[in-house]
Amino acid sequence: MTSSYSVKSSLLGAAARLNSEEAGYEAQLLLQAVLGVNRAWIISHANDALETLSNIAFEALINRRLNGEPVAYILGHREFYGLDLLVTPDTLIPRPDTETLVEAALAKIPVASAHNHLFDEISVLDLGTGTGAIALAIAKNRSEVLVTAVDFSLGALEVAKKNAQNLAILNVKFVLSHWFDGLVDESNACEKFDIIVSNPPYIEQTDIHLSQGDLRFEPIFALASGKDGLDDIRQIIDNCLIHLKPQGWLMLEHGYHQAESVADLMAESGLTFIATIKDLGGNDRVTIGKNPLIVSTHWD
Ligand code: GLN
Repeated sequence: MTSSYSVKSSLLGAAARLNSEEAGYEAQLLLQAVLGVNRAWIISHANDALETLSNIAFEALINRRLNGEPVAYILGHREFYGLDLLVTPDTLIPRPDTETLVEAALAKIPVASAHNHLFDEISVLDLGTGTGAIALAIAKNRSEVLVTAVDFSLGALEVAKKNAQNLAILNVKFVLSHWFDGLVDESNACEKFDIIVSNPPYIEQTDIHLSQGDLRFEPIFALASGKDGLDDIRQIIDNCLIHLKPQGWLMLEHGYHQAESVADLMAESGLTFIATIKDLGGNDRVTIGKNPLIVSTHWD
């Protein structure tokens, strides 16, 4: 049975009710999911009548969105750096801003070629991997690199592992660990990495945005971090040197107004060549710093 709605009219109606900047795009993504079609199909079938059952299913999704649930959780997946990732309420939803961190890491990792394949294997650590977005984007684009991805949430780690499986990305190892805690072996030796990346929680715990919009549905422990939003960033910076190889880099995503604080913390802990990188929106988003040691020390 067909409803009295066409593809186009149901989309327009839903977008009007959603009434946000992204409404048209979101309505389209939700209808595509109901019909199991892509964007091109929607455009070329704009005047087709919608089946009654499809219309009911679409309405149900639109109602969930009207209740505030993020589109990525309704759909169960989100695209990040060209990868289609499973997303659940156990994980933060990957943001386009975080692609800046991936770019920063890739920029420091030479592309393997016939000439330089003799390099020692480069190791990357992703702290608080969530869906695995950062780790998988790096691993996918540098197949010769070994990425270790940690999270303290078992639920998140399960999602990240499934993403690696679905994408057939084999050069990522997953470890249950709160920041660096699980990266010490039986003889108390610290695992060391060439590059450590993280998109840790960095929102001030009193920030009003935490109780608004999509953020309400995301895991609070992946978003908020103490009074100034820097509790976790401080922990990571304080402990990074013993996990960085000589000349290794720490790269942290942070809030648009936190670059100076993060740079100061990095300088205090002894990192050098500190620099901040802007995201595509022009906001300070990632700060990087380098382990000044040239050769290994007794820490090794
Ligand atoms: N960038 C996210 C936001 O402001 C926060 C992500 C995070 O805390 N790591 O919505």
